[in-house]
Amino acid sequence: MTSYEIIQKTNKYGAANYSPKEVVITEGKGTIVTDPEGNKYFDMLSAYSALNFGHCHPEIVESAKNQLEKLTLTSRAFHNALLCEFYEKLSALIKKEKILPMNTGAEAVETAIKAARRYGALIKGVEEGKQEIIVCENNFHGRTVTIISMSTDPDSRKGYGPYTDGFKVVPYGDAIAMENAVTENTVAVLVEPIQGEAGVIAPPDGYLKKVRALCDRRDILFIADEVQTGFARTGNMFACDYENVTPDIYVLGKALGGGIMPVSAIAADDKIMRVFTPGSHGSTFGGNPLACAVAIKSMEILVRDDYPGMAREKGEYFMKNLKEISNKDIIDIRGRGLLIGVELSCDAAPYVKALIHAGVLAKETHERTIRFAPPINITYEELDSAIKIIKRVFNKG
Ligand code: PLP
Repeated sequence: MTSYEIIQKTNKYGAANYSPKEVVITEGKGTIVTDPEGNKYFDMLSAYSALNFGHCHPEIVESAKNQLEKLTLTSRAFHNALLCEFYEKLSALIKKEKILPMNTGAEAVETAIKAARRYGALIKGVEEGKQEIIVCENNFHGRTVTIISMSTDPDSRKGYGPYTDGFKVVPYGDAIAMENAVTENTVAVLVEPIQGEAGVIAPPDGYLKKVRALCDRRDILFIADEVQTGFARTGNMFACDYENVTPDIYVLGKALGGGIMPVSAIAADDKIMRVFTPGSHGSTFGGNPLACAVAIKSMEILVRDDYPGMAREKGEYFMKNLKEISNKDIIDIRGRGLLIGVELSCDAAPYVKALIHAGVLAKETHERTIRFAPPINITYEELDSAIKIIKRVFNKG
């Protein structure tokens, strides 16, 4: 089938809950993807940071293939031999005593909310049903009914009520507003250390430290949603490391699955994780051996090849080059590591279209910001070629 035919068929049978760019990807290797007509592109979005290792990383593919031939699913009715290895590796990497595996990022966020609510009710003594969680404006934590209940994006919410209670929204980056929102029923704050979907917004320096101090002072759990920022994307293993801050609960997903499987988890110490008892939470596929195999291999590569260092160095190089562009429509270029946002004063879609036409895949977020987040193992040669295209497209503007 041609790209045109594939897009027609997709639109005919699929719900229109996405509007993908008009590119069909049929093959991917590292940073390079190919369409049915044989055109090649640099993937500078990486499935919103799920492809930190690039497309079809040979070692991760190999670990998946090996596992595919042995055992793929047991459910949690029985033990499997890989889950304990996954637990041990993630626990050591993130320095938390316990792990709870799920599949998608949204499920992990839901899991963290459940943990915090139970912790509040069973351990802190907040009356059940009154627990509150403080969240930030312009957050993005996923798409379930509970999660969109705390969203401030009208498109995510409209028509989906009744919404889940128990959330208070405060401006992102404002620790004083957060403190003012705390009541005796507050059990947790839920924060993205950098807001990716909102347009790659980093909070003011010191914010995460202030949130940590506030949580300690008021006996509140600090939940960090590192689904998009975790596993080296921002130049540190976790984005909270930038301020040397340790949240109580990490929410993880995307890159944990090595670009192959949906793998997510929360990580926390036992004093929190023990609120979960048999039957109180779970997932048929969470912690399945195939997922564990790719996650174990991904974490091994992450550390062995120093992905945080790679993201830091290449991010600086990329940023320096982007800042050389002279274009009146660009009003800000920001980011950390290889998570970079280019904010425009106008609609970004025509620029994105021109980039794609020239061979660079990227996508706008919230109309005016183009997010660049290439695979962390992009080579300098590939990065240079992509930069050349980006400069050519923007220097015309
Ligand atoms: N949290 C953050 C910060 C995200 O960026 C995303 C997805 O983009 C999610 C949660 C939801 O993850 P998923 O799409 O796997 O449910």
